[in-house]
Amino acid sequence: MKGITILGSTGSIGISTLDVISRHSNDYSVIALTANTNVEALLEQCLIYKPEFAVMVDADSAARLEQELKNKASDVKVLTGTDGLLEVVKSDNVDYVMAAIVGAAGLLPSLAAAKAGKRVLLANKESLVMSGKLFMDTVRDNNAELLPIDSEHNAIFQCMPTDFNQGLNKVGINKILLTASGGPFRTISLDRLSSVTPDQACAHPNWDMGKKISVDSATMMNKGLEIIEACWLFHADPDNIEVVIHPQSIIHSLVEYDDGSVLAQLGNPDMRTPIAYGLAWPERINSGVEKLDLFHVSQLNFERPDHERFPCLRLAREAMNNGGTSSAILNAANEIAVNEFLQQRIKFTDIAKVIETVLENVTQTNADSIEVILAADRDAREYAMNTIKDIAA
Ligand code: NAD
Ligand code: MG
Repeated sequence: MKGITILGSTGSIGISTLDVISRHSNDYSVIALTANTNVEALLEQCLIYKPEFAVMVDADSAARLEQELKNKASDVKVLTGTDGLLEVVKSDNVDYVMAAIVGAAGLLPSLAAAKAGKRVLLANKESLVMSGKLFMDTVRDNNAELLPIDSEHNAIFQCMPTDFNQGLNKVGINKILLTASGGPFRTISLDRLSSVTPDQACAHPNWDMGKKISVDSATMMNKGLEIIEACWLFHADPDNIEVVIHPQSIIHSLVEYDDGSVLAQLGNPDMRTPIAYGLAWPERINSGVEKLDLFHVSQLNFERPDHERFPCLRLAREAMNNGGTSSAILNAANEIAVNEFLQQRIKFTDIAKVIETVLENVTQTNADSIEVILAADRDAREYAMNTIKDIAA
């Protein structure tokens, strides 16, 4: 029996994780569930899954949850704040941590899971984008296991030899082909992009996801973040990674070897597959995902990405090449810009402009400590908000 903490249990990945776990209740026991403010959803999950702990990061929400649980005679212990998250990550009876908080808020608890030597199921790509080297060093130094949950990275992991840590050229790999659906605006012209709405941006053709990653998919910053994520996970350079638009989202990514072989992982676009893989690795368990019917799919198409309409791809590559805190600055500017777009305070096409301005103006330093990374994150957020005020003025 493995004890598991699910960070961000009320989100899209959190819910899919609970779905997989509920199919294997003899193998996994839910130790802690966490959310930010959604009391109703976390209450319902507590009553069904009966964890030892529930964490609501927001203190008022935690107080409400505690009262509601008391009313239902439940003995789930309620914690709050980042301290609460850190406690339920480190706990001795926790073996696995699903890191599925969205955005920079996931950094400290995901890193704490690595520090505590847990198996980290990493969905929260932003934490790796922000702290790349520090995160990977922490995993290595504490004998943690890092299993990528992002579908592309999970696919790449499945197509890699087990000794890929030596470096791609040592294991005969030429490049990684990172697939992208192209998002809801794959075919829309540049002049129409400036007037698209948040609802249109969040209507992803193949995946049902949280709002932030949906907008990231629409700008293709999601793929930009994933280039950075893949560099850290697989010891690659941005030049080793080619983005391939594949609108059907059936091939989740590919690895090209020196002998001309290309290995790919295919499946229906359902996050329960990579989640089940991460939970059971190196074994395989049923995920509840419908089997792939190639005759129904019938066609697989591929296109090159358009950098003019999707400048975020270039921005992410540049940030990774610049190194240090550049990726943390990119990530913070993106989070602010996406939120302002969702609040309808800036246009869709302003998102990339804000990020570019922030990258040009916030000084990049080395990213050797968590303090430096968090300071870069704060500076970039402040600069992004000021840039947005200028745009609005
Ligand atoms: P979501 O918005 O559906 O859920 C986010 C979860 O994080 C919720 O439980 C929420 O309560 C919690 N949360 C939000 N803000 C928080 C804060 N400040 N402090 C603590 N908790 C907070 O997001 P999602 O789509 O499930 O994505 C989660 C992560 O997984 C993201 O990093 C995303 O990039 C990654 N991811 C998601 C998918 C997908 O299919 N949804 C695929 C690949 C990667
Ligand atoms: Mg992905």
